Amino acid sequence: MNFEPPKRIQTLLSDIRRFVERELYPLELTFFTDGFAAVEDALAQKRQDVKARGWWLPQIATELGGMGLSLVEHALIAAELGRSPLAHYAFNCQSPDSGNMVLLLERATSSQKERFLKPLLEGEVRSCFAVTEPERAGSNPTWQGTTAVRNGDDYVLNGHKWFITGADGAAFAIVMATTNPDGALHERSSMFIVPTDTPGFILEENVFTMGRQGEGWASNGELRFRDCRIPKANLLGGEGEGYAIWQERLGPSRIHQCMRWIGVCERSYDLMCDFALKREVGPGEPLADKQFVQGWIAESRGEIDAARLLVLDTAWQTEKSNAIETRDRIGLIKFHVAQTLGRVIDRAVQIHGALGLTDWTPLAYFYRTERGARLYDGTDEVHKLNAARRLLRRYRESASGGA
Ligand SMILES: Cc1cc2nc3c(=O)[nH]c(=O)nc-3n(C[C@H](O)[C@H](O)[C@H](O)COP(=O)(O)OP(=O)(O)OC[C@H]3O[C@@H](n4cnc5c(N)ncnc54)[C@H](O)[C@@H]3O)c2cc1C
Repeated sequence: MNFEPPKRIQTLLSDIRRFVERELYPLELTFFTDGFAAVEDALAQKRQDVKARGWWLPQIATELGGMGLSLVEHALIAAELGRSPLAHYAFNCQSPDSGNMVLLLERATSSQKERFLKPLLEGEVRSCFAVTEPERAGSNPTWQGTTAVRNGDDYVLNGHKWFITGADGAAFAIVMATTNPDGALHERSSMFIVPTDTPGFILEENVFTMGRQGEGWASNGELRFRDCRIPKANLLGGEGEGYAIWQERLGPSRIHQCMRWIGVCERSYDLMCDFALKREVGPGEPLADKQFVQGWIAESRGEIDAARLLVLDTAWQTEKSNAIETRDRIGLIKFHVAQTLGRVIDRAVQIHGALGLTDWTPLAYFYRTERGARLYDGTDEVHKLNAARRLLRRYRESASGGA
């Protein structure tokens, strides 16, 4: 028997699928060719439609204006939204804002919530999350070159960050910086909320990524902090809690990210099947009759189903406990789904021939942007190393008791 989505969201899932297909697919070509700014106004209208339908903020509790879904329910919706690169934005659950919302909900003071979280939930502003630096390995966030030095009632930030998604046009950044370089390894840094109009906050440029510079939400900015002075009231959490906060942000948001990737896989799979059935290599000779193609389709279906069930099971287990208890599983799905994603997109491109490299289907966009899945939110290698270390420790402990 197949896994069945909870009854209360079954109709919702098909309604959302229809909305994404009818309202968002038609905007995609303009987005691929002319960029985010070219569709921003149209998306603002779609956001109003989404709000009116009661679908705003699927990741947030109802009392804060969200849909009040469980982790599994939200995961299932994230997969529907993942079918279009514009859908998460239309529902105000796009990265990095959704992770920042959760962080602010859990860690911000009431005045920080009023000033920064409220407009984010309303969709009036965007934000970004700035940890990675060009000069230091992003895989080791305990080692930050950016510093925040206390000066009276302020902190003064100096440093350099890059690959900061959505920095262009963001109202504020949540920035990780070293506050105590001689402290214990995991207590050296802190998180700060930095409005982007603060003097000394400099967006140098959007980094060309796979040949495109992007803009607005669909870009990755390079930032400089030059004597950027912010009040101590903008410290998020306590001093020295930067690393702990960084970790908190990543658990559940990785589950949603993995389900978004499942959505990308499903769209790519649909496109490959559709094309294989329609494309003829000779009169009456569809591509779908060729064994190479059949192999790719069968492999893709099996891999997507396996990945989907693994993520849903992780979401379900996390719902019953918490993201710390299930962190091994979350690490496993992060690299497993990212790799499945790469294989499925690649096969879909190959089946389409040269058409797969154009913007006439979303496959070229997926191919360019989703390669990053194996890097951001922790690289494949770091997830594997961490998972293996803990798995072996547990195996050793249980083996010493009997095997
Ligand atoms: C599209 C995209 C969007 C991003 N958005 C953001 C954002 O919004 N905010 C932000 O702060 N960052 C963002 N990043 C940066 C991302 O978090 C980093 O790229 C990631 O953490 C890896 O860091 P790095 O690029 O410095 O690579 P490095 O850490 O230098 O790693 C290089 C290679 O070494 C490997 N490696 C590292 N450590 C080990 C080890 N101990 N053992 C074995 N191998 C190892 C890695 O797996 C990798 O293959 C984004 C990146 C991309 C691609």
